[in-house]
Amino acid sequence: MTEQIKLAPCPFCEGPPCVEHTDQLTGNDLPLDRPQNEEGDECYEAYVRCHDCGAQGPSIDSITLGIFEHMYDLTVKDVARIAAERWNERHDRARSCYDAGEEKGLNLFPRNDEIQSLGESA
Ligand SMILES: [Zn+2]
Repeated sequence: MTEQIKLAPCPFCEGPPCVEHTDQLTGNDLPLDRPQNEEGDECYEAYVRCHDCGAQGPSIDSITLGIFEHMYDLTVKDVARIAAERWNERHDRARSCYDAGEEKGLNLFPRNDEIQSLGESA
């Protein structure tokens, strides 16, 4: 029996999440029960998006999972489950990149170099 995952609310608006699962090549929606084909060469993509504001969680696909995480023969359901888990995962692993960019003014919009290209001074 398939174990259910309780999806967290949207981190921006606390709206309801929905899981999208598609054929990466065609963009067509695929059913969760679709098995991998015999060649094992179909690529499935899944992500969670907020039904209200459209914010999207990490996009997960079966080819990238194979190359970088050595996960193979995944079904649509497997890829969608990983997308659901990643939507729920909240962490600060990239915070040091944000902080490093802060020192360089990279967290501003527009950035200083963009202001200059607009003919304005920062
Ligand atoms: Zn939202």
